[in-house]
Amino acid sequence: MEKICVAVRVRPPVSSEPSNGTYWKVEDNRISLHKVHGTPISALSYAFDHVFDESCTNARVYELLTKDIIHAAVEGFNGTAFAYGQTSSGKTFTMNGSETDPGIIHRAVKDIFAKIQMISDREFLIRVSYMEIYNEEINDLFAVENQKLQIHESLERGIFVAGLREEIVSNAEQVLELIDSGEVNRHFGETNMNVRSSRSHTIFRMVIESKAKDTDSVGDHLSTDAIRVAVLNLVDLAGSERIAKTGAGGVRLKEGKHINKSLMVLGNVINKLSDGAKQRGHIPYRDSKLTRILQPALGGNAKTSIICTLAPEEVHIEETKGTLQFASRAKRITNCVQVNEILTDAALLKRQKLEIEELRKKLQGSHAEVLEQVILKLRNDLLKYELEREKLQMELEEERKSHRERDQCIQEQQMKIVDLSNPLTSSDFNPNSGQDSERQSLKEECNDSNIICHGDAFRTPCFKAAPKAFVVKRSDYSMLPDYSPLPDTFSNVADEDTWLKMNKGYIADLDSLQLTPARKVQSFPSSDATPTYSSKNHKQEVQHLKRQLLIATEERNELERKHAEQILLNHQLMDEISKIQQEAKLTQEIPKRLGESVECCKDIYEDVLSIIQSFVSDEESSTSKLVSSTSEIGITLFKTLETHFSMAMDDHSSFTGNNSLIQEQCKVLYEKLNSTITSLVLSQTPTVENEQLRPKRCSCENKGCTQDEETACWEEELSNELNTIKERYDSLEKELDFNNQLLVVSKERYDSLETEFQLLKEDRDHLHQMVSESSRKLALVADQKENVLKDLNTEVQRRKNLEEEIKQFSAAFASRQRSVVSFQNDVKSKCEKLRAQYLVSVPKSLGC
Ligand code: ADP
Ligand code: MG
Repeated sequence: MEKICVAVRVRPPVSSEPSNGTYWKVEDNRISLHKVHGTPISALSYAFDHVFDESCTNARVYELLTKDIIHAAVEGFNGTAFAYGQTSSGKTFTMNGSETDPGIIHRAVKDIFAKIQMISDREFLIRVSYMEIYNEEINDLFAVENQKLQIHESLERGIFVAGLREEIVSNAEQVLELIDSGEVNRHFGETNMNVRSSRSHTIFRMVIESKAKDTDSVGDHLSTDAIRVAVLNLVDLAGSERIAKTGAGGVRLKEGKHINKSLMVLGNVINKLSDGAKQRGHIPYRDSKLTRILQPALGGNAKTSIICTLAPEEVHIEETKGTLQFASRAKRITNCVQVNEILTDAALLKRQKLEIEELRKKLQGSHAEVLEQVILKLRNDLLKYELEREKLQMELEEERKSHRERDQCIQEQQMKIVDLSNPLTSSDFNPNSGQDSERQSLKEECNDSNIICHGDAFRTPCFKAAPKAFVVKRSDYSMLPDYSPLPDTFSNVADEDTWLKMNKGYIADLDSLQLTPARKVQSFPSSDATPTYSSKNHKQEVQHLKRQLLIATEERNELERKHAEQILLNHQLMDEISKIQQEAKLTQEIPKRLGESVECCKDIYEDVLSIIQSFVSDEESSTSKLVSSTSEIGITLFKTLETHFSMAMDDHSSFTGNNSLIQEQCKVLYEKLNSTITSLVLSQTPTVENEQLRPKRCSCENKGCTQDEETACWEEELSNELNTIKERYDSLEKELDFNNQLLVVSKERYDSLETEFQLLKEDRDHLHQMVSESSRKLALVADQKENVLKDLNTEVQRRKNLEEEIKQFSAAFASRQRSVVSFQNDVKSKCEKLRAQYLVSVPKSLGC
């Protein structure tokens, strides 16, 4: 048992005004109120452990009053030092000090670390905290956010403030910096008594843990294992003056009430404690937070010192008297102080246990949670991909459907082209008309049930399939089996160059063409396809599309070829037509020229006749008659010819005469006339002249025909010629029209196929994209899955190892706990023995 150490400190007077009546006089450890002339007032004289006058420094106060408690704390004893007194009496000055004279806290901190340095056989762990009790609320001065903290009590930790920040510190400077930062958060206020009056109780706490260093492994197991934990409280209380005197109102009044209440409770506790063990009864620690926190320091397990500060001025005499009475009572309190070894040891172990628990929680709880989250995420991803896959499958199905329709359409169009090509081949001007039989045979092949496309689930149009003869011919060609180009629809056998041209330089494996297409196409999933979807389907789909594309390309090439042929044919026809037109032009000019020739002949004939008539003097003579009749015949002939030519000139289209015959006839006529004239001149017989004048031959070679008959014969021949030319012209025009129509149809077909081709190309690209995207995702998921599995395995292994370690540690911990408990029991029994001995020895000594 140990009494609380109480000291009184009188601060220097604020003013040098002389006292009118009384003054406080300090002599050794006694303080007494004296009258001005020096007479002591006997009732007001107090003795304490220490009484410091105004000249006393903080250094001396610390040295005499606090140092021992600080040193004891280093050794494992709880310690408390607090300053009590009215406002402006010097409490804060004593605890915190000034620049030139540091206070108790500062010195204690320095001293503790200095002391620790000197103790080489123990290792220390120091934690500090700083709190204030303001308006009965506990606030953390190290962390402003920690407000209104609660007081708790447990077996291991005793009374403690929950949630209070504790800083582990390693040197005095660090602690002092922390205190400075905490001071900023402290509540101050201005009162009549003090410009910067502390409006709260502050408690600076240091927890000093220590344990002996494990220098000797053979040493006492218990002593090396024991850990000492000492709690040191350095308290700066708020002013204990009466409210009326501070002149406080409003907030200050409220503060004052709380301050007074807590100080009143402190007084009550002190009173109770000072009554002695028998009369103590209930100690109202719980009536205020201050007394509750300081409970161990007041009548408990702590070395305690109280410094009561006094203001020497006469005006504060009542407060000073009150402070002294408080100090006198506190002086009577005894504490039971002991080193906190066992409990502290348990506290530390408890902490370790907590740490293990935390680790276990991390393992069992948080980490498993993380893993679960990862697995859940993966599951979600898989589900997502599954949905995406189904969506793709549906899209593929749609695509396949549209492909089928497109195929059908292409097939129909192809058949139309084949049909169209037939009339072309029948044309007189088509140089390939000799291939009709081949085409027909190809069509027949297409209808053959044994061809490759038979049984194709994808319904590849049969005319696109390669004839067997072709495939057999072209074996061992290439090593690329995926593409199976199909041969030209219109040519049974293609040479290598044509094939290369058709495939734009791509050489396909024709062996595979023979073997694979039917089966490969069949491998596409049907409408009730199995749910297992793979990139193989995509590949097959792409292959199929490629084939379709190839077929379309071939068709386009074929159409292009036909188009080129048509253009060539058209050119030829155009040439023919222009030739015919030129001929027609020339034919149109014939009657005109003939007319001119006839005109000329007529003129000559008239001239000749007039000359002949001039020679014939006797108008009644036979010669005159012959001449006149010849003249009439000639005129009639010329008139007929003129009429005929004028008619021919009017009707251009039908007239295609040949004027050479007419010219010849004219010439003959002209010669005959000349000979007649000559005979007449030579006075030959008219019978002979008549015979000579008759035309020798006509175009019909009928020697016996007359001139009229001859003319009619010429006319007929000319008319026949003209009709032939006209017929040929008509047939040429018809051909031209027909070819033009074909050209238009082919062009339309070409355009539609071009559009189809573009659509297919787009589809193929889109599918390519989808396939690559799906493959990438699948690969990604597979990687993730693998990684997670790896992580999981590692984690499981790690967990097992940790569990093993925990088991080992728990076993060690249990054995240690057992030894601690046995040690505790030993100590308890020793204590009881000592107590019993003490109780026996005390009465004996009293009896002496
Ligand atoms: P309290 O904390 O009790 O309200 P303070 O410690 O703030 O009072 O002291 C009030 C004033 O008196 C301060 O200016 C302080 O410097 C001064 N003072 C108090 N005690 C002493 C002392 N022993 N020596 C010198 N000045 C002192
Ligand atoms: Mg103060």
